[in-house]
Amino acid sequence: MSFTWYKTFPDYPDHHPDYWRIRLIFHIFLLATVSFALLSVINLFVFKAYTLAVMDGVGCLIVLALYGLFRRLANVAVVAVLLACGIAGVMLAFILLVEGRNYSVIWATVIPPVTFFLAGRRVGTTLSTIVFLACVYTVYLQLQHNPAFTINTGALLNVIEASIVHILLFRFYEGTRYFAFQQAIEREQQLIKISQTDTLTGIYNRNKFAKEYASRLASGAEPYCLAVIDIDHFKLVNDTYGHAKGDAILVAFAQRLMQNLRGGDVLARWGGEEFVILISNTTRHDAKTIVERWKQAVSDAPFDEIPVTFSAGITVCDRLQSLDSAFKQADNALYTAKQNGRNRVSLYRDSPIIVVRK
Ligand code: GH3
Ligand code: MG
Ligand code: MG
Repeated sequence: MSFTWYKTFPDYPDHHPDYWRIRLIFHIFLLATVSFALLSVINLFVFKAYTLAVMDGVGCLIVLALYGLFRRLANVAVVAVLLACGIAGVMLAFILLVEGRNYSVIWATVIPPVTFFLAGRRVGTTLSTIVFLACVYTVYLQLQHNPAFTINTGALLNVIEASIVHILLFRFYEGTRYFAFQQAIEREQQLIKISQTDTLTGIYNRNKFAKEYASRLASGAEPYCLAVIDIDHFKLVNDTYGHAKGDAILVAFAQRLMQNLRGGDVLARWGGEEFVILISNTTRHDAKTIVERWKQAVSDAPFDEIPVTFSAGITVCDRLQSLDSAFKQADNALYTAKQNGRNRVSLYRDSPIIVVRK
């Protein structure tokens, strides 16, 4: 079994609000373990500061124990607060122990970015305030002794280490911000697509069609015709082959229309077994020829050996005409086509109704 420092918890996928908090916890565990181990060695052998070396060693063990617990329990809320308190406590202890000398107070600047991200605003504010007040107090105490300004290797290391931690933290935060932004864009695009798509057939829905109609007609660049298409005797198809088969035919029917669509035309499912097409750049008679071609494409090849035909009504759209009004006219023509025996195309204000006697 291979071991990786970063464990992924199934309950926290990458869109979970705590996903990045968990990543930071693992980062901090790694950084703290390595730093404590290194500091312990440096304090022991370089500075001969035995108390600090022991403190760092104990710190390292505590971090490793917390890390093991976190891997097993995945209790993000508790571990995040514990870690925030632990880091603030260790920093505070360190700064107080060295009495704020050697630029040790610079470590206090790491407290807000870590504690706010880990444990939220309340805990972050409390811990940061405590550490900052303690720093102010230690510096104030030093001032009382009017100390001479000295600088040493410890000071240099404090500045370098704290700066590295800052850079790593801000790199991480920028990563999370960018990731969240990308996710928001992706989700927005998904939502837009869902709001425009008919769930069964995958083509545009009525909403999107209404928007397309309004924007195209408003441009007034080309003459448009509206065709309303209704599958003939579709109830019979459902009754004979079942609703599921009916659904499959609707999907295939929409695809067949889509395949025969010209660039610039807009197809949508109006509802049920009714479809609408905005035919661009065409006169009423050309539109009729185009729809006749679609009718042929549908009736020529049955759907899984089930023959399907449709009737259609067409109207010319006036530039200022609402979709509602254009639809009524095309629907009127569709009614005529149905009355005249179905499987035919009719133009608005063109063909009189022929009453078929049975
Ligand atoms: P006509 O030629 O006069 O249009 O007859 P028709 O049977 O197609 O028309 P009618 O309005 O009587 O029935 C429409 C049928 O379409 C009834 C309904 O069950 C079916 N239908 C509507 N939406 C769906 C759907 O999403 N899936 C399936 N399978 N059937 C649907
Ligand atoms: Mg219908
Ligand atoms: Mg029908």
